Amino acid sequence: MTRLVLMGPPGAGKGTQAVFLAASLAVPHISTGDIFRANVSEGTPLGLEAKRFMDAGEYVPDSVTNAMVRDRIAADDAATGFVLDGYPRTTDQVGELGDMLSASGHQLDHVVELIVDTDEVVQRLIERSRIQGRADDTEDVIRRRLEIYFEQTAPLTELYATQGLLVQVDGMGDVNDVTARLLAALGA
Ligand code: ADP
Repeated sequence: MTRLVLMGPPGAGKGTQAVFLAASLAVPHISTGDIFRANVSEGTPLGLEAKRFMDAGEYVPDSVTNAMVRDRIAADDAATGFVLDGYPRTTDQVGELGDMLSASGHQLDHVVELIVDTDEVVQRLIERSRIQGRADDTEDVIRRRLEIYFEQTAPLTELYATQGLLVQVDGMGDVNDVTARLLAALGA
């Protein structure tokens, strides 16, 4: 029974770590980026709407993103918890998530922030774009995504810190070492 948010800049390895964490906590991994990408490739109305923002490295509007997450965390498999990856990313989303959870008498257990070196993540993202060919992994778009992250999302951790929920973990180095640090920090 764990409700966890995983934060960190693009390229911090959130997706990779979120999969491990979700498996060891036996809760679903909910990645807003993955859900958007699945909708884009299936050509759903949500995908068509999200695509132009994603391709530019911009955030999809809060109204769209919030409604999607509201649906997803209301699903049966998320009743006992989740690892949220890529949400919340704005002040509005933080408020919405709080409302969604309190409506069902729940609250977050931890907000984990992966701390990484910015130059290193730019290199990782450029490398990933060569391998996966993601449309939003071109150098200009990568810069834009990082800029928006540090402007809009990184400051949100302060709010969670004042609530005593924030756990900061060093995200540099070997993937398995980072997982071990995360599990240790969560006491899992
Ligand atoms: P990354 O963390 O590498 O930027 P993600 O896979 O988490 O990538 O997200 C890819 C894109 O999906 C984002 O750049 C954004 O356009 C959109 N997106 C994902 N999550 C959100 C969110 N919570 N709010 C708004 N847009 C989002």
